Amino acid sequence: MIIKISGLSDDVHDFVFEEKIEKLELKEPFFGNYVAKIELKKFHNQIILNSDIYTTAAFECDRCGADFKTNLQNKFQIAYLFGNYSEENNLENVVYLPSDTDKINLFTELRDYALLSIPMKKLCREDCKGLCYNCGKNLNEGACDCDKQQADPRWQPLIELKKKMNIN
Ligand SMILES: [Zn+2]
Ligand SMILES: [Zn+2]
Repeated sequence: MIIKISGLSDDVHDFVFEEKIEKLELKEPFFGNYVAKIELKKFHNQIILNSDIYTTAAFECDRCGADFKTNLQNKFQIAYLFGNYSEENNLENVVYLPSDTDKINLFTELRDYALLSIPMKKLCREDCKGLCYNCGKNLNEGACDCDKQQADPRWQPLIELKKKMNIN
């Protein structure tokens, strides 16, 4: 994830990195490789870098508890400015580089944006139906008969517990 910038022409350059996710010092829920597709525009005293990062991760569905794997994606833009700037120009996503900088290391950004791509709510699919509060059946696999039957009173404490535990 290191881009050599010394000697790069004022132009648009594309880079693709594919490495094991461990290279970003990330582990679960991530697995396999990450891919970073980078477009770097260099002109005058600046570089505008646009990056897409793709990862794969394994989660447990918040609603039905099923294990699932999914592709995650995120993007970020950074502007690199060469030369000396005052600290007042401390803008987000703007990095000031000494004019003799010869490479850019994207480790921190790729790692951060990969982590940010983890969804708050992990669902095996958007319309996951979850589990029946009553019988515990995974409703993605079909409806249960609970609507039709009177709930067995012996299950009542478990039903209440499930309701409490289900934060969705
Ligand atoms: Zn689910
Ligand atoms: Zn049921």
